[in-house]
Amino acid sequence: MTERLYFDWNASAPLRDEARGAVLRALGLTGNASSVHAEGRAARGMIEAARGEVAQLVGAEAKNVTFTSGATEANMLALTSAIETAGEKRKRDKLLISAIEHPSVLCGGRFETSAVEQIAVDRDGIVDLEALRIALAASERPLVSVMLANNETGVVQPIRAVADLVHAAGGLLHVDAVQAPGRIDCTQETLGADLMTLSSHKIGGPQGAGALIRRGDLYITDALIKGGGQERGFRSGTENVAAIAGFGAAAAAAAHQVDPAHMARLRARLEIGLREVAPDTAIFGEGALRLPNTTLFAAPGIKAETALIAFDLEGVAVSSGSACSSGKVQSSHVLAAMGVSPALARGAIRLSIGWNTTMLHVEQFLGTWRKLAASLLKERRGIAA
Ligand code: PMP
Repeated sequence: MTERLYFDWNASAPLRDEARGAVLRALGLTGNASSVHAEGRAARGMIEAARGEVAQLVGAEAKNVTFTSGATEANMLALTSAIETAGEKRKRDKLLISAIEHPSVLCGGRFETSAVEQIAVDRDGIVDLEALRIALAASERPLVSVMLANNETGVVQPIRAVADLVHAAGGLLHVDAVQAPGRIDCTQETLGADLMTLSSHKIGGPQGAGALIRRGDLYITDALIKGGGQERGFRSGTENVAAIAGFGAAAAAAAHQVDPAHMARLRARLEIGLREVAPDTAIFGEGALRLPNTTLFAAPGIKAETALIAFDLEGVAVSSGSACSSGKVQSSHVLAAMGVSPALARGAIRLSIGWNTTMLHVEQFLGTWRKLAASLLKERRGIAA
């Protein structure tokens, strides 16, 4: 059997060897990381090493990292608990979010629907800074959540500019940076993020671990998960040592490995190839700065669900919009926010590549697409006739 082509890295990256090694070492341990005996201390040691590695990935201090079960929980923690400086007791009463956030942010956390305002994006999927400025002027001390890079389109947001506006208005900025590490700079200080979310399995760690990273002077009160007081009381529950250890190892590897220029060359070839197959192919967010590994495209006349199945049968894994909503035939809220017609959005196929994708893989992918597109378009013309 020929090797499958995996072009769905934004949904989940393959496990890195370093992460697999760390997971196996952690699984070999006995002991609760909260126990004082040697076994407990060994588990604690693995967690604290991972905390340092994850912190380093975004230039933060280890003590500001709270481990969670994933980015979904980290986003919920940011939007549900109260996160303030030591002297500040009042909870924030307004949440401003961009219209293209992940569903775990779109849901609004603890905020009543009437207290959540969505900020529009332009046709390229970039948050409208003027709309944000107006919304900020009408809010007192809001919590704002804008993602660094969109998981569907790869479009990168002007986070530094967002942070400056938010801070000038007395707000706090949470940034879902899940798709950024290993692809673009995600240094917390450069971005100006007060809170940042990361996910292990998007960077080659195991699934089921994530982190919320705070600015040093911020504290979490009224935690989302209360109990035994682990993670300084910010997230109770016995830690998933193996997943956290794997996350740490993946973070350490992700900090070193990147060659974004190589990824961008592969992506450029992919996009030229897509238009050689169908010249009227739409590439969403094309006019904006995007992650170098992501292409969301649609060839008019081809439905994404049909193409996905056909690709799978040919040994190619791709996605339609976000993985979280695939399986349900639901058009993308991201493309709707960008003003893409529902008919075109229904054809949106996401290709996302990673550190071991080669030019040969890209050419193999294009060969498959050439064959599939011809037969899917012919089929459609047959039906229409
Ligand atoms: N935010 C973004 C931007 C994502 O792409 C995802 C994963 N689809 C998440 C949050 C949720 O991550 P996790 O799977 O770790 O809960």
